Amino acid sequence: MEKYDIIVVGAGPAGLSFAEHIEDKSVLVIDRKKELGVPIKSSAATFADTLIDFELKDAVCHSSRGFRVILDNGYIKEFLYEKPVLYTLDFTKMIRILKKRMQKNCDILHPASVERISMDNGSIKSIETNENNFKADLFIDASGESRVLLKHLNSSYYRKQWLIHGLEYEVSKIDLNSTYFDFFFGNNLIPEGYCWVFPTGNTSARIGLGKLIPGRGGLRKIKLKDALQKFISSNVITAENFDNNNILEYHGGIMTYNKPLKNAYFKNCFVIGDAASQSSCLLGEGIRHSLRSGRELAIALNSFDLDFAKIYFQRYIDNNTKFFEYFPLFLQYFKIAPNWAILTLVKALSDYDNTNMLRLLRSEFKSSDFMKLLYTFPRNMI
Ligand SMILES: Cc1cc2nc3c(=O)[nH]c(=O)nc-3n(C[C@H](O)[C@H](O)[C@H](O)COP(=O)(O)OP(=O)(O)OC[C@H]3O[C@@H](n4cnc5c(N)ncnc54)[C@H](O)[C@@H]3O)c2cc1C
Repeated sequence: MEKYDIIVVGAGPAGLSFAEHIEDKSVLVIDRKKELGVPIKSSAATFADTLIDFELKDAVCHSSRGFRVILDNGYIKEFLYEKPVLYTLDFTKMIRILKKRMQKNCDILHPASVERISMDNGSIKSIETNENNFKADLFIDASGESRVLLKHLNSSYYRKQWLIHGLEYEVSKIDLNSTYFDFFFGNNLIPEGYCWVFPTGNTSARIGLGKLIPGRGGLRKIKLKDALQKFISSNVITAENFDNNNILEYHGGIMTYNKPLKNAYFKNCFVIGDAASQSSCLLGEGIRHSLRSGRELAIALNSFDLDFAKIYFQRYIDNNTKFFEYFPLFLQYFKIAPNWAILTLVKALSDYDNTNMLRLLRSEFKSSDFMKLLYTFPRNMI
């Protein structure tokens, strides 16, 4: 049985960002994928600071100076900025860039699926892949929504009914206004979810939706595909002129729209990225948060002994996931509210000025901002 100081399960943005920054320890990163970053599950839209912070400019497909909120009743609100604010990335390219930057002390093993975990007194002792067994002092769950290690440590956290399923088409040769990223809301268009058109060039885009669908399996896929077709054939979509021949790829997966995991660690295991639901409860934006949490954990372990690293990282989680706590509220609202109420809420939110709207989109709202929203809410009836 091979032994490492640290084993990371998952070579997505969170696990690879950790591997880029961790120093002086022997590290093994394990991923079940044959080719890392393939198949793509993500729309990979992000903000300028992700590119600067993590030097990912080479993975950019397209940049836009603004975005629009579009409702199923025809309401459109535009937000335009002086400089580009939103970017689409080539997800696979980003993963390749991150993999190249892994520290020399890090090994990577893939495809290798973690299948069994041995526990000792509540701590993880070893893990078993389809071929080998590995031991480590410390484990990191960066396995996204699979939560391979977390499932054994805190099974109650994994609540399927809070997961949002996403599906999108990557399309080319279409007519679209590539100045904007478009977000669509409304029960007539997409109940319990939202749709998007994110440009990847002047005539190409990712067209998709995220929708609450309990359960897994075939039926879910059919429902998602039907919903996406409904969106594409609706009269609100802003990209036109395409049929099945324009579809280059399908992307899909689960967005962990869960309440963030409160504990950053369980005994000898830290949980980062989507595995800890560190993605935005508003729009499922998770790449920025996963990259950050991987880096922050590495910094904590480079700088402090384990006990202090736990305190440091827990503080990071507490400070950075406050907004995500509102998730159950949003979810309940979108589940039970009639269409007029949903449209009213979205319109009230989109009445913010450009700066505040960008803060909202980036999940930087505080409780005081929500109080202001409640105050203005009745005056914004559609
Ligand atoms: C449809 C959709 C659209 C999205 N759009 C956006 C967007 O526009 N912008 C944005 O910022 N975010 C978006 N996201 C979210 C974003 O993709 C995630 O937040 C991000 O990928 C999370 O990174 P991660 O490293 O935590 O997990 P992941 O990217 O999920 O990586 C986890 C890795 O763990 C591996 N793994 C899982 N189980 C095992 C196992 N048993 N053994 C070994 N390896 C395992 C997987 O193969 C995977 O490589 C979207 C998600 C979906 C589903």
